[in-house]
Amino acid sequence: MIKGIPVSQGIGIGRVVLADAGEPVWNPEKAVDPNAEKDRLHHALQRFNEKTEHLAKSIEQAEDASRTSDSSQAEILRGHIAMLADPFLISQMEEQIAGGKCAEDACYAALSMFESIFMQTEDELMRQRAADVRDIRRRMLQILTGTEPAPLGDIPEGSVLVAEEVTPSMLAEVNRKNLSAIAAEKGGNTAHSAILARSMELPAVYSAEGLLRSVKQGDLLVVDGMDGKVIPNPGQTELEHYQTRQKEELERKAQLEIFRNRQTKMADGQKKEVFCNIGTPEEAAAALEKGGEGIGLFRTEFLFTEKSTMPDEETQFQAYKTAAECFAGKPVIVRTLDVGGDKQIPYLHMEKEENPFLGFRAVRFCLKNVQLYETQLRAMIRASAFGNLMIMIPLVTCVEEVRSVKSLVKKIMCQLDGQGIPYNKELKVGIMVETPAACQIADLLAEESDFFSIGTNDLVQYTMAADRGNPKVGYLNRPMHPAVLRSVRHIIACGKKAGIPVGMCGEAAADPLLTPLLLAFGLDEFSVNPSAVLQTRAQIGKWTGEKAEKIAEDVFQMKTAEEVEKYLKSI
Ligand code: PEP
Ligand code: MG
Repeated sequence: MIKGIPVSQGIGIGRVVLADAGEPVWNPEKAVDPNAEKDRLHHALQRFNEKTEHLAKSIEQAEDASRTSDSSQAEILRGHIAMLADPFLISQMEEQIAGGKCAEDACYAALSMFESIFMQTEDELMRQRAADVRDIRRRMLQILTGTEPAPLGDIPEGSVLVAEEVTPSMLAEVNRKNLSAIAAEKGGNTAHSAILARSMELPAVYSAEGLLRSVKQGDLLVVDGMDGKVIPNPGQTELEHYQTRQKEELERKAQLEIFRNRQTKMADGQKKEVFCNIGTPEEAAAALEKGGEGIGLFRTEFLFTEKSTMPDEETQFQAYKTAAECFAGKPVIVRTLDVGGDKQIPYLHMEKEENPFLGFRAVRFCLKNVQLYETQLRAMIRASAFGNLMIMIPLVTCVEEVRSVKSLVKKIMCQLDGQGIPYNKELKVGIMVETPAACQIADLLAEESDFFSIGTNDLVQYTMAADRGNPKVGYLNRPMHPAVLRSVRHIIACGKKAGIPVGMCGEAAADPLLTPLLLAFGLDEFSVNPSAVLQTRAQIGKWTGEKAEKIAEDVFQMKTAEEVEKYLKSI
């Protein structure tokens, strides 16, 4: 059994499909026959070219068929073929083989030399080519070592996706119907692929260290997304145990169906709301279907990352309008571009930073790239004529940022007035409270904002000074830490005092253990992954204000996250 982090609930059982095992390992023994090694190298080069061309063609065909793909991806792949055909590079590999190296070593050495040449240049674009070289090196070594990843488009039914790190693009490629679960060596609860796994209702366990050493293609694998365990090749009794648990879990889910069309209410009748987090306009319909009462967070960066150029105003307008219309008058909170940190957009050519999470990201970047920002704001403001759309500013740390965004909004509204273009004159502009600075000045920010939404994913990482993507400090990334709980309580209290609604769109909003605490603090709106709507609504219905307050009182006597967690599990 391998322990990891449960990132998407449920039990999944199936056969391993190795999506990407990272850079392969091989035996670096001296090759006995240079001629045979040279042949192996050339066969691998040929296979690389055929496979890459095939992939480029299928991307182009998908683009013709659905207009969702991107021709630049095909161009990039053809660039890889050209790069690997470089006569100097091939002569370097052949020289290594002639010197007694095996094909893997030769390939590794020559491509690593190319990588370091690119890495040493001052030019950011040239440095990005180093990533291409790493990608080529990994794929060539996979061919040479016979560990090529399975093509994800046609995996067999009952597959479990296993990778070093699961990317959102892997999940986009895979056939959901045939997938039972996901397991990965890296990643945590707030990784974007984890968020997608939850939307796809796929049990998933991340940060399962040693996983890739323990499984091979086709092995039977149990993924326990409840307790964060991965069990390769279980014995008969263990398998039966998990099959029973899987059945129980499906029954539990079916029972939650009664909450689908209900209002969200506490046990004493207090009204609350469960909203959804989405990343694309298409997900809005699914969120509504899952029983969401609004959209609490539309992450607009996916509109930017799925293309090779900036989406223009019209494309963005259509996306925001689709979501607003889908919810027909119910709130749809659209967040302005949260680029930077772990979300890079190549065509924006952002400079490499020492500390990207503390750097030029989100509203900081947007306010310095006014043309880009005005295009987005204009698209949002125009879409506000088609529903109850609200604008949300990410990563706020100062009052000036809110004022600057609001003055841009005002300026655009004046332009639209002049052009006779309709929009909602009462359009609300709120903020994400997700930095310790925003928490400390929440009272001041509340005077400038129409609403708050607490972004616990970032609030936890910044409060705890623990990178949300680094498994080594994952033990600190806990919303139940007293520092985080005090912050959340304070932010909600400031919002309430100023009379503005306070929601939460970080992943903590969907944690059933935290529900009574959040209710006691006075949270109005829980914005969760669509797959967690019913469970969150059911959970809210369990508590009266009085009982929740008693629990909060007890929790605030406690000094550690462990104590809090143990207590919340016991009630
Ligand atoms: C958050 O930080 O809690 C949040 C919802 O935003 P993101 O995960 O996109 O940073
Ligand atoms: Mg955030």
